[in-house]
Amino acid sequence: MGEIPELLVIDDEIGICEGVQRVLEPEGFKVDIALDGMTGLELMRQGGYDLILLDVKMPQISGLDLIPLIHKVDPEIICIIITGYATVEMAVSAIKQGAYDFLTKPFSIDTLLLAVNQGLERRNLSIEAKRTAQAEAEAKALTEENDRLLALDQAKKQFIRLVTHELKAPVSAIETYLTLILKGYVDPDNQKEILEKCITRAREERRLIDDLLELGQLESALSFQLSPVNPGEVLTDVIAEFWEEIKLKRLDLVLDTDHDIPETRAVPEQIKSLWSNLISNAVKYTPPDGRITISLRREGDWLIGSVKDTGIGISQEDCQRIFSEFYRAKNAVDFGAPGTGLGLVIVKRVIESMNGTICVESVLGSGTTFQFQIPLPPASD
Ligand code: ADP
Repeated sequence: MGEIPELLVIDDEIGICEGVQRVLEPEGFKVDIALDGMTGLELMRQGGYDLILLDVKMPQISGLDLIPLIHKVDPEIICIIITGYATVEMAVSAIKQGAYDFLTKPFSIDTLLLAVNQGLERRNLSIEAKRTAQAEAEAKALTEENDRLLALDQAKKQFIRLVTHELKAPVSAIETYLTLILKGYVDPDNQKEILEKCITRAREERRLIDDLLELGQLESALSFQLSPVNPGEVLTDVIAEFWEEIKLKRLDLVLDTDHDIPETRAVPEQIKSLWSNLISNAVKYTPPDGRITISLRREGDWLIGSVKDTGIGISQEDCQRIFSEFYRAKNAVDFGAPGTGLGLVIVKRVIESMNGTICVESVLGSGTTFQFQIPLPPASD
């Protein structure tokens, strides 16, 4: 409400309109007049009114029917009915329609002033209550956002602690090995072996840095440049990259993909990373002469991909944890395959960024299947 309360009188009797105007304007109100309902509605749509005085009996539309239309435009506006034929039924239906009060013609100046002032007070109160509720809702949303940011901050700190720890381990090992050689504690015959260990740890460090960089890219806006990608074609390229290793371990590779895999909108490098991580794990954790089955098919609006192997498997307990940063199951570490414990974190983030899901099924000692599903974009006509 502005400093000067703005009122509108809708009545087909010009005498009443002007009378109200004459009485209220010297009291500090701005009073406009409309001689029929539709003109009044049009005026109030232009906004600014705090209170409307309306006649019941008017041509075209009655004051009572006008109230819901007025409240549709501004639910807080106060409507006071003025009528020459006040009955209890009329009063009840006026209140039901949303009128705040009603005045019976002829009414005294005091009665008019009292009704108008009470109406305006009611309007102020309800606007104030609305404002308070809105401020409370905003405060609640802010608290929730704050809690979310605090939790995020905690998770980031925890992640940094883990990263620091993981990065430190290979460097400390390399430092120890080199110090042993430099101080002459390793006889020349054993030096080659120690240097090879240094190289293994250095590679471990580089893999870790590569995975961390990839994880970082996943979170940067730049990596979210979507373009049409055919996940089937990417799969063929990725398999080619692992072909030497697959042959070396005499793994039987079974490909079970639909021919008409549609394109999806994605970041090509991310689709590549998704396949690379799943296939590299299958190759890595499957002993020689095992089998890897890769499938990709369309089911309705979904793309379903899976990588199945006959490898070392994952215990049920570990299946819950392998998607957490740096987690490596004991049997995987004992198997001697190098790893960072970040590959599946990357896979999960890529899939979730496309609103998809991934699940794992495994039997320890027998094999593992990772299956993901990604929604396909709606077909454009
Ligand atoms: P890593 O670099 O250690 O392979 P990942 O995040 O890719 O990291 O996988 C996390 C852990 O999940 C692995 O260390 C291993 O314990 C388990 N894992 C993943 N894929 C397989 C698989 N195909 N067979 C057996 N274990 C697997």
